[in-house]
Amino acid sequence: MKQVSRLARRIGLAMLLAVSQFVQAGTGTVAPVAIDLSVALDPQSRKLNGSATLTINDTDETEIVLAAGLAATLDGSDRRAPRRVAQGLQRWQIPAGPRGRQVTLRWSGTLALLDTSQQHRDTLGPAVAVASPEGSFLPAAALWYPHPFKAGNPQLHSWSLTLTLPRGQKGLVPGNLTDERHDDNGYTAHFEFPWPGEGIDLMAGPYRIDERLIRSIDGRPLRLRTVFAPSLGPLADGYLDSVAGYIARYESAIGPYPFGGFSVVSSPTPTGFGMPTLTYLGESVLRLPFIRHTSLGHEVLHNWWGNGVYPDYPTGNWSEGLTTFMADYAYAEEAGSDKAAEMRASWLRDLAAVPPGSTTSLRAFTSRHHGASQAIGYGKAAMLFVMLRDRIGAASFEHGLRTFWQDWRFRTASWRDLQHAFEQASGDDLQTFFTQWTTRSSLPSITMTSASRHGSELRLRLDQRAPAYQLDIPLRVVGPGSSNDLRVRMDRPTQVFGLEVAADAIRVELDPDARLLRRLGPGEAPPILRDVTFDPKAGLLILGDAPFGSVARQLAGRLLDHPTAGTPPPAATGNQALLLIGPDAMIDDWLARHALATRPTETAAADVAMWTLRRENGQPLAIISARDATALDAATRPLPHYGGQSWLAIDDGRVRRKGVWPVRPQSIAVLPEN
Ligand SMILES: [Zn+2]
Repeated sequence: MKQVSRLARRIGLAMLLAVSQFVQAGTGTVAPVAIDLSVALDPQSRKLNGSATLTINDTDETEIVLAAGLAATLDGSDRRAPRRVAQGLQRWQIPAGPRGRQVTLRWSGTLALLDTSQQHRDTLGPAVAVASPEGSFLPAAALWYPHPFKAGNPQLHSWSLTLTLPRGQKGLVPGNLTDERHDDNGYTAHFEFPWPGEGIDLMAGPYRIDERLIRSIDGRPLRLRTVFAPSLGPLADGYLDSVAGYIARYESAIGPYPFGGFSVVSSPTPTGFGMPTLTYLGESVLRLPFIRHTSLGHEVLHNWWGNGVYPDYPTGNWSEGLTTFMADYAYAEEAGSDKAAEMRASWLRDLAAVPPGSTTSLRAFTSRHHGASQAIGYGKAAMLFVMLRDRIGAASFEHGLRTFWQDWRFRTASWRDLQHAFEQASGDDLQTFFTQWTTRSSLPSITMTSASRHGSELRLRLDQRAPAYQLDIPLRVVGPGSSNDLRVRMDRPTQVFGLEVAADAIRVELDPDARLLRRLGPGEAPPILRDVTFDPKAGLLILGDAPFGSVARQLAGRLLDHPTAGTPPPAATGNQALLLIGPDAMIDDWLARHALATRPTETAAADVAMWTLRRENGQPLAIISARDATALDAATRPLPHYGGQSWLAIDDGRVRRKGVWPVRPQSIAVLPEN
């Protein structure tokens, strides 16, 4: 996650950062505007005082924008610039003038009170600067300091910031820490961010800081910190170990870490933000044991992809897909090929759940807005990189990444620039590959129509919807004593392939390991809990006595998207999707009576087991089987968060194991020669 378009959302702009935002000066990259700030915050009274001098590094007209709730005065050569207030913003028009001209603004105001009850979903909404002694968060998008705009677009800017806080409080903004003091008068720290950046987020709280100094791969000192609520202190060492490990890993894979340090900062609210040089995560999130091994690496990697090379938003945000591929997916690959296959299948599974009318192209993905957008921007884009590496080979792929980094560090790059980097590295023409996967919103649907033997040759007919994609399709030809993997290249709506295969081949499977981006057919997509809970026609069947039934009804109310008419007669398995909840013994009995598969071994011995299956009529069935009503009650809180899973094992109200059933690959029998 990386909340990159916060500012644009606040301002309501469709167009984001323009491509040509940089003033090239020698070999370095200078931001169009440099801001020198001094900021004092008192979290108790929530008073904010600031002054900022903006140096405008071009000759164009520039606009300065600040939240309207802050009292401000403009100094310097442009003090007569008219102030306009509209839509919660105050704006000053700074006329065109000589390069390097300066404007100084002083402002003050009282911030909103931090509400610790807010949920993660709310924190993704419109940005508001909040303060309290427990924690303060001033997101850039709240426009708590003067932002430079040009022609209606936010401008990248560098900053140099001195932060003052009362005694007992500590704080930070993205950047390199160059000075820090705390004494009886309070806390003062100075940060430098000399690169073109998207905006300044400020965090403060009653923090305890743990630090470790390491060296970057090119010999620079890097300052790693945990900036934690005191109660998280015991976790500091582990987090510092992990950050050091991720930096070493990605430096050797991509190139030197671009900044002077990285901090893991705790938040009293369940937020999850990534910014250059730091990540701001909820205390409850940081306590989760798996965060260090998953999300943290993803956030560290964003310092290369997203905060090191900027995506060109108007033509699509590639940074989430590449970060997911090199973090989340890479960790799954290291855990085992089955885990990686499971993740690929889950991307395809999620994409299959996006209604055809809601699909968009990768070029239309700018950030995460909702579930469908996430399936596309993360899963579809990550799958593109899986296919690209399969196509050009790991060595060319890694070489391409390194040159892309060297060429585009602190600049805005597009999908096309990525394409060129991989073309240079591999010597392949990747025009068709990148164009079809980034500009088309639908996915290919592929069907194996016939397979028959003609002498030693197997003739396989494949169909795909027109206009045809160019596809490298993995196939598995299976016989009683053989299994052969091969690939065919398809670029027309219908094609017959002649394959030399083993004499005992009896069946062909399409993409059995989910390595091809395509729309799974209904028979291929494994059922997940959401297939039942999102279905407005889904039925509900509760087994068990009255006390069990009342807990089960509460659970069903939280799971199902729609009110259910009630319980169908127990004999009916129904023609619709069905949610079945009951005590273990009664569930086993019910399954046996309906000649359905017994409970899966994956959920064995759990207090509460959830699993899905697809019935002969194609309808999904979700089963929740509990040891007793108490165990079911404890599972009521976590269950609604796992709609994307095919099975869960829950003990003491916590999900211990989970998974998605494998994709059932399309399979066709080979007809003998006649
Ligand atoms: Zn991300």
